[in-house]
Amino acid sequence: MAHEAVSSSSVTGEHHNATAQPENTTPKANLMGMSRAELEVFFEGLGEKKFRAGQVMKWIHQYFVTDFAEMTNISAKLREKLERISEIKAPEVVHRNYSKDGTRKWVFRVGDGAGSLVETVLIPADDKTGARKTLCISSQVGCALDCSFCSTGKQGFQRDLTSDEIIGQLWVANQSYMEDVEIAERTRSVTNVVMMGMGEPLLNFKPVVKAMSLMLDDFAYGMSKRRVTLSTSGVVPMMDKLSEELDVALAISLHAPNDALRNELVPINKKYPLEQLIAAAQRYIRKDGNESARKHVTIEYVMLDGVNDQAEHSQQLIKLLKDLPSKINLIPFNPFPHAPYGRSSRNRIIAFQKALSDAGFVCTIRQTRGDDIDAACGQLVGQVADRTRRAEQWKKKVAQQGEIIRSQG
Ligand code: SAH
Ligand code: SF4
Repeated sequence: MAHEAVSSSSVTGEHHNATAQPENTTPKANLMGMSRAELEVFFEGLGEKKFRAGQVMKWIHQYFVTDFAEMTNISAKLREKLERISEIKAPEVVHRNYSKDGTRKWVFRVGDGAGSLVETVLIPADDKTGARKTLCISSQVGCALDCSFCSTGKQGFQRDLTSDEIIGQLWVANQSYMEDVEIAERTRSVTNVVMMGMGEPLLNFKPVVKAMSLMLDDFAYGMSKRRVTLSTSGVVPMMDKLSEELDVALAISLHAPNDALRNELVPINKKYPLEQLIAAAQRYIRKDGNESARKHVTIEYVMLDGVNDQAEHSQQLIKLLKDLPSKINLIPFNPFPHAPYGRSSRNRIIAFQKALSDAGFVCTIRQTRGDDIDAACGQLVGQVADRTRRAEQWKKKVAQQGEIIRSQG
């Protein structure tokens, strides 16, 4: 399906500056990705009361207002000051694509100039509580961890996203449903967030934690902590740090039930092998108290034909997870060009699921959605980058041909 190009006049502000600055000497502070604590410091720096932070957060994250002039509970004088020293900017959308099945995808350009591309996907599902809309958010451009079945990993690491760029993805997704709705009537449509887009969120810790704190904050998105999930390939020390700083659901990209195979598929396993990973997951759950965000972890397991999908693997997995309260999610592999793997057959996946269910595990198979717009997990921006490159090459060719025709004519 063709991608729709969207106007590209804005560039994401990258720096926060928590205090007022003299005019024209520093970039404007972007309020989009500031946590409540940071905004409170920001307003105190302007000689204002702390509660302004909550007011402005509501305008930004609940009413999707970016123009200070529309913030009617703030004095004209303060609005004018805010206008001068700050801005509210989401990352620039360069493509968006809304699929027939309700899946929506955005490609953002982040950074200055040509910038880099990152992708965000919204996947709808009807569950018993009503319409669930899960947004898959990126945390980095590319990824340094080079898992052998992941197209993001194949691109290498380019850069970390800022908190503006991370929360901006959620902002854009919610705002896309509210464009034609009166400000007073606006609501938030995204019900769940998973940090399962491009990048390893625990290797971009501070911006990710800041953005996730906004997801949970009642003055921003006010999402339940059970509906906000961070997915990691297993950066063990940062799992402990996360557990201290934030209460969110955790998913672990396991993909293999023994170290030899996991070393191959998820190379960070060489640094933090399974024993350490499982122990860290257990510690994460133990931090719980009575809250349900941490009653279990989700185990992600990509189904690679003939590689990790045999009966011996399910048996090993059952042993490995026996003392870890977990729900297992089997992910049919999403192929990409030059991928060294194939997707396990449907029968194989069902047999694997049955083995785990028979052993008492809750085990689900992830539905692949949005295939018609390349929005499935693991099929992220690489292909868009490819297409963009192809489109650019094509444009160049056409321009060159134009030159030739002109010079001949
Ligand atoms: N870096 C984090 C989060 C992003 S990856 C992590 O690894 O957990 C999100 C999920 O998509 C991970 O479980 C990852 O293993 C999975 N994934 C990556 N490439 C895939 C592919 N080609 N097919 C299916 N799932 C894939
Ligand atoms: Fe990075 Fe996750 Fe892809 Fe591994 S699966 S390369 S950690 S994005």
